[in-house]
Order: sequence, then structure tokens, then C-alpha cells
Amino acid sequence: SPSLVWFRDDLRLADHPALRAAVDRGEPVIGVYVLDEESPGIRALGGAARWWLHHSLAELGERLGEKGSVLVLRRGAAGEVIPALARDVGAGAVYWNRRYGSAEREVDTGLKEGLCADGLEVQSFAASLLHEPWTVRTGTGTPYGVFTPFWKAAQQLPPPRAPLPAPRQIAGPHAHPATDDLDEWQLLPTSPDWAGGLRDRWAPGERGATARLHAFLTEDAADYDRARDEPSAGATSLLSPRLRWGELSPFQVWHAAIESGARVGGFLSELGWREFSWHTLYHFPDLATKNLRSAFDAFPWPRLRPSMLSAWQKGETGFPLVDAGMRELWASGYMHNRVRMVTASFLIKNLLIDWRHGEQWFWDTLVDADEASNPFNWQWVAGSGADAAPYFRIFNPELQAKKFDPDGRYVKEWAPDAVGVGARLPIVDLADTRKAALAAYEAVKRA
Ligand code: FAD
Repeated sequence: SPSLVWFRDDLRLADHPALRAAVDRGEPVIGVYVLDEESPGIRALGGAARWWLHHSLAELGERLGEKGSVLVLRRGAAGEVIPALARDVGAGAVYWNRRYGSAEREVDTGLKEGLCADGLEVQSFAASLLHEPWTVRTGTGTPYGVFTPFWKAAQQLPPPRAPLPAPRQIAGPHAHPATDDLDEWQLLPTSPDWAGGLRDRWAPGERGATARLHAFLTEDAADYDRARDEPSAGATSLLSPRLRWGELSPFQVWHAAIESGARVGGFLSELGWREFSWHTLYHFPDLATKNLRSAFDAFPWPRLRPSMLSAWQKGETGFPLVDAGMRELWASGYMHNRVRMVTASFLIKNLLIDWRHGEQWFWDTLVDADEASNPFNWQWVAGSGADAAPYFRIFNPELQAKKFDPDGRYVKEWAPDAVGVGARLPIVDLADTRKAALAAYEAVKRA
């Protein structure tokens, strides 16, 4: 009786505990991916994410094939698709790595119960976070609300386990079970095909991810602490989409970083922010829709002005750093972290647009958009979320540009028309809008 390995946000063969367990069980292994756009509460993927998923699945299928196994693609509510497939192939066991969003957990728990009741062996594994969300707790057992003590406490726990190697061979079934055709899922944009910039920049899949990790650690990591805030320096790892899709696990990244011998403390603490985002989502499942600090519900957002939102989305605000960032995002599915903070702050605090509109745009356009990090960081910038980022800390896009893009290289790369003769005029006055934002914030302070 074959073992099913249900791939989700872990599109890799190395350090995949569910796959390892299936191989060790000694029966044929069938990989499956379910495009689930039906289960209640599961957030539909954004456009850039769908593009990445297509390519990453294509590679995963190839790699499983090379090892002797198969990847079955099915579409529908996972709660029905997985048991149906298990029945079709006469599976004796179903394995997966855990997910941490509440809708996903609900699906998984229901499935586990149903499959176990049918006599199958079901096991789930820790693979996507260094520490399970229920393991990092304050002295009184509550989740942490601030990063620094969170990360300190996480580091007191036993160190992250060593990553598992990819299986050398994976025995597959005698006959290939029926599978959807990946192309028919239409994850790639066609008319228009806006993905040219994504193709130029990224090579999705486990091979590209492993190569990138190696290149970062041997070429860039030494300069990370000094240059990570400069958007034109190319000093950061660009691993976020790889971690998002699980082409690499955080265990692999963690251990490779330490073994590289470079000074990686700053880099590892960024992995800590990823952990903190996911732990926060686990404890506050409505992170993408509700203010973490409920006092923020009193914030008097003015009526949405669609032309302002659209100017921000298109990178036509007249503030060069903001415009460059928004165009980097649109063209390539990515934006440097410093510029994400500046563009998000600008939307919320200079255009007075509710952070949820920005979060949704990033969700649709980022190749690394994930259901924890994206809303977590938006709330962090808004001042409605975890950590001590008070609302009145407002990034000034002009000062930020002077400080982090002093020679204008980043702006010239992404928005050359934003500087010099004929440059667009600013759509708002920074000082006036700053004052208006602070006045609006008074309502939160009173709440
Ligand atoms: P590096 O500096 O090389 O960091 C290494 C890894 O640490 C990253 O790959 C990422 O997995 C993690 N990391 C770094 N910073 C953060 C952070 N602040 N929060 C959580 N994880 C972090 N990151 C996402 O992965 N997905 C998102 O949807 C996302 N949305 C964001 C929205 C806003 C408004 C802001 C301000 C930040 C957002 N980030 C998000 C965090 C951060 O900008 C990206 O993780 C980072 O820019 C990715 O580039 P890198 O891999 O080169 O980062």
C-alpha cells in the first residue's frame, strides 16, 4: 500500500521530513499537490505567487520523476481530494509537513481524523519553522508581543535540528495515478503576459534556491550587516520566495549560514523575524484583516481616494524612492526591505490609506507574499501590530533616499524618469500629511 506525501509550502526533496518518513516506510511513494481554491478561509494566491508556484511545481515533478517517483496534481477542496486519491491508489499512509494558518490547520485536522478513522496511518511533521509556535512562550505562558524578548527566548530553546539530506532514490507506484495537467491550471499570466520581469530575475525551484543560498553565503554574507539596508547594494539573500515556497527549509538556511563561517548573527535574526511573523499569525489568525492592537480600530481613515491608491500602485507619486520601489515590485515581484518600509509608511501615513489596501496589493504582486510575514509587517509599519513601532515614527521618503540611496542608483535603476527634468510633481505635501496623520492618531491614543 503506497504512501502519499502531500506537498504544500515545502516544494523540495531535501530536508523534507514527510518525504523521508514515506521513503523509510518502504512502500511506493506518491507525491501530491492540491490547488485548493475551495476550502473556506484559505486565501487565494496572488498573481505573482501563482507564477512562482507553476515553475516550482514543474521542477518538483521533474525531480521526483528523476528519483523514481511521481507528482500528482489535483484541484479542489483538499478535505475531499486527498481521501479520494488515497482510496484510488489504495494508500496505507499519508504524510505532510505542518501549516500554521488557522484555515489550513482546520483542513489538516479534519483530514487527519477522517483518514485515521479509515485505518490509514497519518503523520505530520515540523519542517517550515525553526521552532513550533507553541514552544516560544513568556514566563506566564502567553505568546510574545515584542521581537527582542521573543528571539532571546527562542535562542534559549534547543538549537534547530540538523537538516535531512534528499533521498537518493524514491520508489514510485507501478502506474502513474491520474493527474491534472499543470498548464491547464493557468497559473501563468497570458493576456497580457506581465511576467517577463519575473522570468528575468528568478529561477524558481529547489535547484535555483540551493544555488542562491550558496552564492549568498560565499559572496554576500560578509557584507550583509553593513549593506543590507541599501537597496542598490544587492547585499541581502533574496531567499524570501524560496522560504515562502519551501524550496529551502529554515533549518537548511540556518545551518548553512553557521557553517559558512561568515558573521551571520544579523542575518539569522532576520530569520527570527520570519519566525516571529508566523508565531504571531498562529496566535492571531486574523492578522490580515484585524488590527492586532484593537485600540487602532478607532483610527479615523478618511474615505478612500482611488486615484491616490492607484498612483501609489503604479509608482507615480512623485517621490522617487517610493516610485522606484513600487515599480521594482510590479516589474519583478520583489522589493527591497528598506523600500517596503518606506512605501508602506507612505501609503499609510502620507496618503492616509488603510494598511489593508497596501497589504492586498503586496499580496497580489510579491513572489514571496506569505500569509504571516505580509500582514505582520504591514501592521508593524502601521503601528497597529506587534512590537514597539509607534505610529508617530513616520518614514520621510526624501530623507530615507538620502540616507540609503545616496547616489540614486536604486532610483535610476527602477524609476529613471522620477528624477531630473520632467520629473513628476509630488502628489502630496509631506509636512502637511504628516501633521494630518498625527492628528488622526490622537483618536487611537484616546481609545
Ligand atoms: P534577507 O535580508 O536576506 O533576510 C533573510 C530572510 O529572513 C528573508 O528571506 C525572509 O525569509 C526573512 N525576513 C527578513 N526580514 C523579514 C521581516 N521583516 N519579516 C519576516 N521575515 C523576514 N517577507 C516575506 O517573506 N513575505 C512577505 O510577504 C513580506 N511582506 C512584507 C511587507 C512589508 C510592508 C514589509 C516592510 C516587509 C515584508 N517582508 C516580507 C519582509 C522583508 O521585506 C522580506 O522578507 C525581505 O525583503 C526579503 O528579502 P531577502 O530574502 O533578501 O531578505
